[in-house]
Amino acid sequence: MASDPNCIFCKIIEGKIPSKKVYEDEELYGFHDIAPWAPVHFMLVPKRHIPSMAQLTSEDAGLMGRIMTLAPKLALEQGCNPYPDGGFRVVVNTGAEGGQEVHHLHVHVMGGPRPWARG
Ligand code: 5GP
Ligand code: ZN
Repeated sequence: MASDPNCIFCKIIEGKIPSKKVYEDEELYGFHDIAPWAPVHFMLVPKRHIPSMAQLTSEDAGLMGRIMTLAPKLALEQGCNPYPDGGFRVVVNTGAEGGQEVHHLHVHVMGGPRPWARG
């Protein structure tokens, strides 16, 4: 399904719930986490409602590749320090045992000077 009316991230992507946007194109949306773990903490999500990594197919390789190659560029733009002394962490929680709370696939990107609130 393209959009799930009960999904909080679909509502964010559609602008029905406000967010602090860091990136947008035809298939991706990026925004700051409301409860950041680190000085820099944003998420990249596909605009299409995909519940988690568990539903990915080989047709999504390009989509996920775009997210992973965009992350370093946005991390620097958002204030992460350069590799290797700086850097960032990428996390994709998947399913209950993976710690996933929002069931719209999202890639966390966290960085900035230590210590962090979590992680
Ligand atoms: P998960 O635990 O599913 O990997 O992560 C969900 C993340 O979404 C959490 O880090 C949480 O802080 C964030 N989050 C939940 N609701 C909202 C919201 O309404 N707006 C924003 N910006 N982030 C949210
Ligand atoms: Zn959704």
